[in-house]
Parts: sequence; C-alpha cells; structure tokens
Amino acid sequence: MTISALDYSSFKIVQLRTLYTTYLDAISKYPHILVESQRYLDLYKDERPPANIWFLDHDVLQQEIVERPPQIHERYDAMGTRVCAGCRRALHQDSFRDSFARRWTLRLGEHGRLCYTCTEARRKSDARASSTRWDRQMTPIT
Ligand SMILES: [Zn+2]
Repeated sequence: MTISALDYSSFKIVQLRTLYTTYLDAISKYPHILVESQRYLDLYKDERPPANIWFLDHDVLQQEIVERPPQIHERYDAMGTRVCAGCRRALHQDSFRDSFARRWTLRLGEHGRLCYTCTEARRKSDARASSTRWDRQMTPIT
C-alpha cells in the first residue's frame, strides 16, 4: 500500500470512529443501518470510482442506499429498474423524476435520464462552474 493510500485510509478510519462514537446511542433507532451501510460500501467494492467526476464527487447520498419503505417496494418494484445516465446504477422508479410508464428514447445509445441524486449533483456542479465563471468575469483588471 502506498503512503497516500495509508494516509487516506487512516483519515477515513478516524472519521468513522468519530461517527461511531457520536451516533452510538442513536444506532438502535435505525433498524436498517447495517444493510444500508453494506449497500453504501458495496457501491465501489469492485473498482475505485474515478476521481472528480461530477456524478460521483458530491455530498448527496446515492439513491436506494437508505431502506425503501414496504409501500414503495409494493408500488414500484414491479416496474423494474432503469440505469441512470450519470451514476450508471440500475434504480427503481422512485429514484427518478421521469416516469417509467413512458418510453425513454435513446440518442446515441443513451437516454440521458438522471436519478434524483445525479440531478442534484449536476445542479451543484453547474452552479459551481457558473460561479467560477462569474468570479472570473467580475475580477477587476489591474
Ligand atoms: Zn444517478
């Protein structure tokens, strides 16, 4: 393991320890926390995600990590899943604004539909890019 990987890992362990001690008393109030944590860990277990990609590098929780209520399973699971054009995860209807009842037309093999998380990540990414442009435009010329 490289020094940077060790540095990264040790920092994450300290963060996890802090989270654990902070929320230890509250854990019993969240009956699905183990399954939800496992889902989150499994997101990138096979390969490390690319760094600084707008649909991954954000602070919005990914769709379908938190346990979906039984009513949501009942209502939407029969509709199957579709793959988000951003995060590339197969997600259920309740993770998308666009209805599965309509056909999603493909353009160059892509439907371009984003899940709620990727929609928010794109909005934040666009806002950051536009504020950076604004800052550049408003910097006085010296
Ligand atoms: Zn997505």
